[in-house]
Amino acid sequence: MLKRYLLAPGPTPVPHEALLAMAAPMIHHRTPEFSAIFRSAADGARGLFGTEQPVLLLASTGTGGMEAAITNTLSRGDRVLVVVAGKFGERWAEICDSFGLVVDTIEVEWGKAVDPQDVAKALAENPETKAVLVQGSETSTTVLHPVAELAALTRDRDCLLIVDGITSVGVVDTRMDEVGIDVIVTGSQKAMMLPPGLALIALSEKAWRFAERADLPRYYFDLDKERGSLEKDTSAYTPAVSLVIGFKAVLDLIAETGGFAEVYRRHAILAAATRAGAQGLGLELLAPESPSPAATGVYLPADVDGAALVKTIRNELGVFVAGGQGHLKGKIIRLGHIGYADTFDVVIAISALEMALAKCGADVSMGSGVAAAQQKLLEMYGDGGA
Ligand code: PLP
Repeated sequence: MLKRYLLAPGPTPVPHEALLAMAAPMIHHRTPEFSAIFRSAADGARGLFGTEQPVLLLASTGTGGMEAAITNTLSRGDRVLVVVAGKFGERWAEICDSFGLVVDTIEVEWGKAVDPQDVAKALAENPETKAVLVQGSETSTTVLHPVAELAALTRDRDCLLIVDGITSVGVVDTRMDEVGIDVIVTGSQKAMMLPPGLALIALSEKAWRFAERADLPRYYFDLDKERGSLEKDTSAYTPAVSLVIGFKAVLDLIAETGGFAEVYRRHAILAAATRAGAQGLGLELLAPESPSPAATGVYLPADVDGAALVKTIRNELGVFVAGGQGHLKGKIIRLGHIGYADTFDVVIAISALEMALAKCGADVSMGSGVAAAQQKLLEMYGDGGA
């Protein structure tokens, strides 16, 4: 038997509290019983987003939420500025392009965060730009972008800041209203600790004003319609009933275990310990300057076949980690610590990396990564809370 560990940057494991809640017999969605759950889940999501605005729950993966963000706020021929710092930045550009928007891009070296000055310069050159689109956390390069600094640039313009928060909401403290984010999206299979299939999205007052004039084609993802339904504690179409029930269970679990602050602290600690572990092994980080607390990208030694290493970890050791995407394929490994992850997930990930490196013929001092990760965990938990 090979015991499996899911340590990728999503989907993440699902806590048993949510699994059990979702295993209950199906209920109808147009009932007071489900409406109460739906309302409670949508209200709880506002804490995660840091907003007083309604958070809409869509039956879709995160990409559907990204599409909804665009089609509900922009119009044919609008000019947009997309930060392309990895695979998911490319996705923003592709969606904008397929809806006929005029797309300017800022290409950022993979592994680096966008420099807000480059965005300021681009906005000055094209003052008619209607939206800046960026990832909160670019999962393909494990980088955290400076969203608050970008919001300071769009706040007083006729321009929206649209954030793909798929691996940043529930990972870092996302104060949408305070910071001035106009649209933010996330998906259930990441920090929400649920199976895939639920997208969550919120719009600022400014974005709702944009929505009044937005003329891009849309039908299923009509956010104004969803907002109207949410006011009546329901959704426009059949909701992802089980996932909403699971989401309510996850929110209850978070509330019972220290609240959102504890969630952000845990992600920060696990990320720091994973980085320490990789460095303890003598490996270089992909994003040392602005690392995401959702996942850690690590360069593999040049003489190691990266694809074979990922296969070894997954198939021989049972640890499902992610490889590189795009031009980083075969060169890096990405260790997820998002969602339902804790102390020993880090130890397992680093230990598996050490063993797989040894199996692939790398010169590795067994235990050096694990020791560094353990040291960092003890240091950061300090109070023995690990
Ligand atoms: N954006 C980011 C930053 C992601 O990490 C992902 C998934 O990994 C997506 C978008 C795509 O989300 P989904 O696969 O849920 O459509």
